[in-house]
Amino acid sequence: MLDFVQLEDDLDQEERMIRDTAREFVEEHVKPDIGEHFENGTFPKELIPMMGELGFYAPNLEGYGSPNVSETAYGLLMQELEAGDSGLRSMASVQGALVMYPIHAYGSKAQKEEWLPKLGQGDAVGCFGLTEPEHGSNPSGMETYAERDDDGYVLNGSKTWITNSPIADVAIVWARDRSSKENPVRGFLVETDRDGVSTNKITEKLSLRASITGEIGLNDVHIPEKNVLPGVSGMKGPLSCLTQARYGIAWGAIGAARDAFEEARQYAKDRKQFGGPIGRFQLQQQKLAEMATQITLAQLLAYRLAELKECGDMQPQHVSMAKRNNVRMARNQSRIAREMLGGNGITTDYSPMRHMANMETVYTYEGTHDIHTLVIGEALTGLQAYQ
Ligand SMILES: Cc1cc2nc3c(=O)[nH]c(=O)nc-3n(C[C@H](O)[C@H](O)[C@H](O)COP(=O)(O)OP(=O)(O)OC[C@H]3O[C@@H](n4cnc5c(N)ncnc54)[C@H](O)[C@@H]3O)c2cc1C
Repeated sequence: MLDFVQLEDDLDQEERMIRDTAREFVEEHVKPDIGEHFENGTFPKELIPMMGELGFYAPNLEGYGSPNVSETAYGLLMQELEAGDSGLRSMASVQGALVMYPIHAYGSKAQKEEWLPKLGQGDAVGCFGLTEPEHGSNPSGMETYAERDDDGYVLNGSKTWITNSPIADVAIVWARDRSSKENPVRGFLVETDRDGVSTNKITEKLSLRASITGEIGLNDVHIPEKNVLPGVSGMKGPLSCLTQARYGIAWGAIGAARDAFEEARQYAKDRKQFGGPIGRFQLQQQKLAEMATQITLAQLLAYRLAELKECGDMQPQHVSMAKRNNVRMARNQSRIAREMLGGNGITTDYSPMRHMANMETVYTYEGTHDIHTLVIGEALTGLQAYQ
């Protein structure tokens, strides 16, 4: 596997073990039929509890069954999962960073005790409902609202593009609390079998096909007071979760690019044209050299991000730079890898075009490339350019 400047020499034993476990899992359980899942638009659901058993959901949290592994180990895990498919990494990101993290950070003791072990084991599936049909890049415009009734709240509204909503047991729904002054955004734990909840599947996707995506409809859904996340109010709630998930994406995208690179490298050695392997042509070597360089630069950024996160110095703009750069890199480099595979490259028998199609989603979700550009621009100038 590509590790051109030997970054992995510095890994400790636990980090190596987590990387190897995830790599073997992907080789054995994901790669053999992920192309078929992509074609069929299905997610290999049988992997959900297996991933739980292997500790793939939020192992960087502490307590309630999570071992608090290093941020580098967590990043390596995301990298290996996305080398399998972005759908797989999205499953782990949503479950860990977008559902377990907010419960861990902002939940009551009872909420933590009820949900964290189940989610961590993959015995329950969670989803994160922030995006709405009319409010994507600007989620603070959300229209979904909660109003107090006798012993809790009633929720109304709709969410869309929600990873795993059709198979989720619980959704973290972000909504405006109309019963409080200034209508702050609050997080609600909504069990999907409650009356008034619907979770239609979105089927027309040409990207992230091996992942289940849906809507969440909320029609007079009664939620008891105990289901409100008590520890946060305002946009800080959802945005802090996104920072966690984007950290995983910054690492994960490297895995997709690396896998595309490795397929192209192998193909260049095996495929013969004009009497020998295409890898002997300078044009093909130039493509491999550029891919390897771009992947290595992205790795360097990810490793530094892990150091910053480990010592508590990671800022949202750091994550924006890494997500923005590394996903763009994976989007571009998977296309070059596809190109090197000629006609075979457009099939699901090889990974590059699947990764390339997945990257269209990864480029767009968790803050589009454009929005991360504006976050970095604001950090550099002190001036906002969002409106
Ligand atoms: C497969 C998939 C899974 C997803 N999973 C989830 C999930 O689990 N939970 C969840 O809540 N959401 C999820 N999303 C939603 C995702 O986060 C949004 O699609 C994303 O935030 C962009 O919102 P939008 O699609 O409404 O695009 P828009 O916000 O309408 O943007 C359209 C275009 O305008 C650009 N743009 C917008 N504002 C500006 C600006 N100020 N300046 C310059 N350009 C701008 C954008 O960059 C983009 O190119 C998912 C999306 C996909 C595709």
